[in-house]
Amino acid sequence: MNYDESCVFCKIGRKEIPAAIVYEDSEVMAFLDINPVSKGHTLVILKEHFRNFNEVPKNLLAKVMNVCQTISQASIMELKASGVNILTNIEKAAGQEVMHFHVHIIPRYETNDGFNLEMKPLAHEEKELTNIATMIKRAM
Ligand code: AMP
Ligand code: ZN
Repeated sequence: MNYDESCVFCKIGRKEIPAAIVYEDSEVMAFLDINPVSKGHTLVILKEHFRNFNEVPKNLLAKVMNVCQTISQASIMELKASGVNILTNIEKAAGQEVMHFHVHIIPRYETNDGFNLEMKPLAHEEKELTNIATMIKRAM
């Protein structure tokens, strides 16, 4: 099992440092983000160290997503969230600060919940989309 001694989430997974744990099994752990962006902001991790989403074996990814869905449902039922954002950051350019794969579960509330995930469309031409789709398909 991959483990990085200098990694804060590896330490949380091994309970070497404390966290507000929401869920745990032999492979997956979920705990509250220490600097929540909304009430109930939770991180779901694999206990094993993988740098980010792109490095995770697909069978393990499915286990993580399963827990993400359950926590998302629980936030709506118990915290009375009106919606949820689920996101994972890959590398610095995307805002990843902790280089141990994690998924953010961010419950959303109708009134001023303080979180903003604005997606501002880029100007583009239709032909460009076709070309980009071709490039992505080629690499799959
Ligand atoms: P990211 O920018 O996607 O790498 O997010 C890392 C997240 O980890 C941030 O939201 C931090 O607040 C959170 N975080 C960092 N250290 C801890 C910790 N010891 N316990 C809980 N959450 C943490
Ligand atoms: Zn780690």
